[in-house]
Amino acid sequence: MPRGDGTGPRGQGAGTGRGMGGGRGARGRQGGFGAGPGGDCVCPSCGQRATHQTGIPCYEQKCPKCGTPMTRG
Ligand SMILES: [Zn+2]
Repeated sequence: MPRGDGTGPRGQGAGTGRGMGGGRGARGRQGGFGAGPGGDCVCPSCGQRATHQTGIPCYEQKCPKCGTPMTRG
């Protein structure tokens, strides 16, 4: 039985300063939408479909048939 004096596993640096590694696995958004990107807008009133124009929300588009603001189909 050796007397542990001197070479002890003590004082090995004060803890490793590990930056809190955020373990946030940012998963992609769930593609559970009915209409994918670049889908159509649809008139809630008469069902008329129109191509969704990028940059313009569907509700700003009017139905070519009845003039009702379209919604995302
Ligand atoms: Zn319509």
